Amino acid sequence: MYSELVNKVVIITGGSKGIGTAIAERFGKEKMKVAVNYHSDEAGANEAVAIIEKAGGQGIAIQADVATEEGNQKLLAETLKAFGDLDIWVNNAGLENQYNTHELPLDEWEKVVSTNLTGVFLGAKTALNYFLREDKRGNIINTSSVHEQIPWPTFAHYAASKGGVKLFTETIAMEYAAKKIRVNSIGPGAVNTPINAEKFADPEKLATTTSMIPMARIGKPEEVAAAVAWLASDESSYVTGITLFVDGGMTLYPSFQGGRG
Ligand code: NAD
Repeated sequence: MYSELVNKVVIITGGSKGIGTAIAERFGKEKMKVAVNYHSDEAGANEAVAIIEKAGGQGIAIQADVATEEGNQKLLAETLKAFGDLDIWVNNAGLENQYNTHELPLDEWEKVVSTNLTGVFLGAKTALNYFLREDKRGNIINTSSVHEQIPWPTFAHYAASKGGVKLFTETIAMEYAAKKIRVNSIGPGAVNTPINAEKFADPEKLATTTSMIPMARIGKPEEVAAAVAWLASDESSYVTGITLFVDGGMTLYPSFQGGRG
């Protein structure tokens, strides 16, 4: 636990399930004030609020589409109305789907890029404006992926969006470092959440994924949340512009394991 996080205000986008809900729970345990954004799953967001409150924090649910400027403005306005301030903005909302690239419809490309990359830009822009206006030592944490580094055939739009998040994070970390605003990403590997539920329900696909992870297991959402909490805390006070991979070693060229190659 990080005592400096007590009563700090955080926004988590896409918090109604998966990694977002795990981050919400962790911030509840840190006794923070947590705004859980959701797109359409109101019940999931209300459940996340109940989890936060059970863990010892305060929570509210806010509907907004992160791919729009109005959605992000609404998120900030409702958070300020409920909690009076903002300290940390976590851009977690994301989507993926699979297509051969020569068959990938433009609207599917745009849906993924507008959520995973434009949504991160708009969230960061909204947070930056607030931090600058209030002269705050703000903190922005983006959710990237191992696929900001590892190419992923049939997920070109997803990989392109996460590659974009990497350089966006690095660029704004540099741009606002002198203003004492830190910006970092987390890079999950294969984590057990609804985004992967179908894949991991298939024993053959699960075994294939596991074979690509040196630690030989799928990650838990709370293991990603622990990395987010560290980036939110003062323990990472000299860290900006990184991607902290939480991937059981997936980015370490696992095909070389055992001296192969
Ligand atoms: P998930 O599908 O369980 O949750 C994603 C959340 O984002 C959902 O609540 C969804 O409603 C929300 N969302 C989607 N579009 C939105 C929009 N326009 N506005 C607001 N919310 C929106 O997935 P997850 O596994 O929890 O993924 C969370 C993040 O982690 C994503 O950015 C994903 O790309 C990333 N990630 C996940 C994994 C993994 O293995 N689970 C690996 C690498 C990266």
